[in-house]
Amino acid sequence: AQNALVHNEKMSSLGQLAASIAHEINNPLAGILTFAKLVIRTLEQGPPDDATRRDLVRNLALVQRETERCSAIVRNLLDFARDRPVALRELQVNAVVEEALQLIAHQLAIQGLTLERDLQPTAAVRADFGQLRQAVVNVALNAVEAMGKRGTLSVRTRAAADGGVEIVLADTGPGITPENLKHVFEPFFTTKEKGTGLGLSVVYGIMQRHQGRVDVQSEPGRGTTFVLALPPLGAGEGQA
Ligand code: ADP
Ligand code: MG
Repeated sequence: AQNALVHNEKMSSLGQLAASIAHEINNPLAGILTFAKLVIRTLEQGPPDDATRRDLVRNLALVQRETERCSAIVRNLLDFARDRPVALRELQVNAVVEEALQLIAHQLAIQGLTLERDLQPTAAVRADFGQLRQAVVNVALNAVEAMGKRGTLSVRTRAAADGGVEIVLADTGPGITPENLKHVFEPFFTTKEKGTGLGLSVVYGIMQRHQGRVDVQSEPGRGTTFVLALPPLGAGEGQA
């Protein structure tokens, strides 16, 4: 394949991050303020007639939607920023993957997507069950969102060459352009109308805290493959 394996080591500096957060939150806030003022002004003019009441409901629905957007951003941001220390335990990656797949099973079914699984017996790893599960869910949900109504999500686990374990999630979706591929791990990078662009930065942070890696390979029209790699048990122990 002529497409390169991309491992994005670069994360935004704190300053860039702060600027994008401010921007992301500021847009919905501006909408909330505008519509809240409008509603107040309308109600100050006296009891609304039916048509006015419909307008008020529509404006308040906008306030609700924009507030939900802010709260989704903040929620994801907390996951991303809160450098929650990983609670590392010895565990089987397959158990984590099984649970993650259960969490997305309903969405897969709704969209009529096919799931292929090939979970190989692998060595135990040291990982935080909940955080690793979240990483798998974030990647799997992106695949599901990318495929829409047709496609196959294939999930594999396998022993890595270095003695660690790899979780491979491949989809048959539209793929990612080389230009977008450079940015997918950056906070707030999204191509979705309602995306937060934080899912993959959360994945990146989680894999870093595990001394692991996340790699992505994609080509427009050929689907996308993410690899979550965990180091072998005992790696890093006894080192300065
Ligand atoms: P979000 O899902 O909110 O957009 P993410 O950080 O999870 O944010 O993903 C960032 C972007 O990476 C997506 O908007 C999309 O453009 C791209 N992407 C991620 N996974 C896939 C995939 N499996 N197929 C196609 N594009 C993807
Ligand atoms: Mg996402």
